[in-house]
Amino acid sequence: MDKLQMTTPLVEMDGDEMTRVLWADIKDILLRPYIDLKTVYFDLGLKNRDKTEDQVTVDSALAAMKYGVAVKCATITPNAQRVEEYGLKQMWKSPNGTIRAMMDGTVFRAPILVKGVRPTVRTWEKPITIARHAYGDIYRNTEMTVPGKGRAELVFTGEDGRETRKTIFDFKGPGIIQGIHNLDSSISSFARACFKYALDTRQDLWFSAKDTISKVYDHHFKDIFQEIFDAEYRDAFEKAGVTYFYTLIDDAVARIIRSKGGMIWACKNYDGDVMSDMIATAFGSLAMMTSVLVSPDGKYEYEAAHGTVTRHYYRYLKGEETSTNPVATIFAWTGALRKRGEMDGLKDLCDFADRLEKAVVGTIEDGTMTKDLALIYEGRANAVNSREFLNAVRDRLEKDSN
Ligand code: NAP
Ligand code: MG
Repeated sequence: MDKLQMTTPLVEMDGDEMTRVLWADIKDILLRPYIDLKTVYFDLGLKNRDKTEDQVTVDSALAAMKYGVAVKCATITPNAQRVEEYGLKQMWKSPNGTIRAMMDGTVFRAPILVKGVRPTVRTWEKPITIARHAYGDIYRNTEMTVPGKGRAELVFTGEDGRETRKTIFDFKGPGIIQGIHNLDSSISSFARACFKYALDTRQDLWFSAKDTISKVYDHHFKDIFQEIFDAEYRDAFEKAGVTYFYTLIDDAVARIIRSKGGMIWACKNYDGDVMSDMIATAFGSLAMMTSVLVSPDGKYEYEAAHGTVTRHYYRYLKGEETSTNPVATIFAWTGALRKRGEMDGLKDLCDFADRLEKAVVGTIEDGTMTKDLALIYEGRANAVNSREFLNAVRDRLEKDSN
């Protein structure tokens, strides 16, 4: 069989530890035999980030912005222990943080559903995608303890020196205060990324906040979403048969639990942080969660939502067999290949991505899976190691193709 051809390369961001091992195996076993894989390769492994003083991360993000589609392996975000373990020149920043800041993107996270791994919530039939605003609010706060009696104020000093003041509270005794901010530019980018993604995936978009209580701050989010929707997206949504609506966060939570799923839920930074972990867990496993960063001008970076699976890697280094789940990483590749196919008009490439995803899901639904899934699978599971799983997927892909 002739291998599938690509016209534009994918930006490939290699990573660390167990996921780096899986990365190479996925390419060898599931991709290269079928695709004449074209990538622009960046090694974001911690050693190379240190060697290049993290320039490689910046270069990879620039390449993602140039070519439009990237696929990223999980990477270590160094802490003090890693600085020692790797003898690092400094505690480099999170690559994901750097890439997200450069692409000004929004992260969409969606679970991969398979029969036999049932969501904790009985009514959920389709994936629920969380879109998390990744800038500001309490993640960029200024806070302090109040020692005792006194007045706390909000003060804004304009460029012209003019002050605007509001009393936060007249303290009679000790307490705490916090200042947070956000930017119109960032909220607008977030809104546009959400509207684009909803059209792209043909799913309804919900946005939730707490504007009844936060009448200026949260209300501003709501207004920006509505203005951009009315001015730029209303017609396209109607044509695509999808809807946008705003609701209070508490109402959204109640509706999500009663829903069948199948929507995008846009959340402010903190809500998205908390809700994405809840959604992942309720759908079964972090190892089955995909993640895509979408920039407001329509550039995409696909990855798995989990980390480098360090505990498995240390066992792997000792020569022990590991059963690490490669599904989310495979789906990062299929997501990227499908998007590349769509952008370049390569239907075969899109079809291949669909078939590979079907082979992965089919393999699990027929009972062959890694240990993490076997533990929660309803039915008799054949628990295999990572490589055996990849080979089983390949066998199935070959069978389906004949
Ligand atoms: P993790 O790598 O996601 O793993 C946490 C635990 O979850 C694992 O020990 C494992 O549980 C289970 N798990 C996660 N993915 C799995 C998979 N594919 N198959 C089977 N089990 C899986 O998180 P972490 O241990 O907190 O972080 C490890 C490193 O990853 C850190 O250096 C962190 O900085 C980095 N990280 C990177 C990203 C990213 O690049 N996007 C995201 C998060 C973390 P058991 O051990 O019980 O089997
Ligand atoms: Mg979190």
